[in-house]
Amino acid sequence: MESIKANIERIRNDIAAAALKSGRLPSDVKLMAVTKTVDDERIRQAIDAGVDLIGENYVQEAQRKMDILGRTVPWHFIGRLQTNKAKFAVRLFDMIHSVDRIELVSELDKRSKSAGCMAKILIEVNLSGELTKSGVPKENVFDLVRQAAAFDNISIQGLMTMPPWFDDPEDSRPYFTELRVLKEAVAALRIHGVEMNELSMGMSADYAVAVQEGATIVRIGRSLFGERPVRPR
Ligand SMILES: *Cc1c(COP(=O)(O)O)cnc(C)c1O
Repeated sequence: MESIKANIERIRNDIAAAALKSGRLPSDVKLMAVTKTVDDERIRQAIDAGVDLIGENYVQEAQRKMDILGRTVPWHFIGRLQTNKAKFAVRLFDMIHSVDRIELVSELDKRSKSAGCMAKILIEVNLSGELTKSGVPKENVFDLVRQAAAFDNISIQGLMTMPPWFDDPEDSRPYFTELRVLKEAVAALRIHGVEMNELSMGMSADYAVAVQEGATIVRIGRSLFGERPVRPR
């Protein structure tokens, strides 16, 4: 299984080229390995080969994997988070990328308080208006950020998005640009408790474009581990 290491090398090279092309440093971009459905041994290979972060979509699956693989790299939550899983999420994850409603913020705040930690979160934005997608509509981002910032145990670190699927990655570019502009607009408000350092955007098909547009975290599954088996959930 030399291939995971080789894939990471290839992805790092692409990231570096895209960063330099847009006047950024390759080191400004963190490579997240997205590990849904990936078995422990292959995740271990990715960790050994030096990915910066692990991204998981499911709380229980992540818990089981962490028990086996440890937490030598930060684990981030990127899936749809049910409010009743917030209490586990704040203990397990270093960051939660998929926060899109105030009820969830409130629950994360409460659970972080009892765990004695801060919940580092990204606000997930639905830029396309697709009804099947999670994320707060862009019109509501400022309101959600303002409301979330008022909670003591919530630290807002930036924004996350998932554009619609396109065959041509260039078609994703306007969405990535829009998220960067939105992030800068939120940062300009200088709200206490809002950092706006992170832009989580770009997946296997379009990460190079995302990096050119300012991504600080790219979330890569298939390009790193190969196609996922189609398995019912
Ligand atoms: C699965 C997933 C990814 C990775 O997608 P690939 O196309 O496999 O790179 C990234 N982000 C989220 C939120 C995901 O669910």
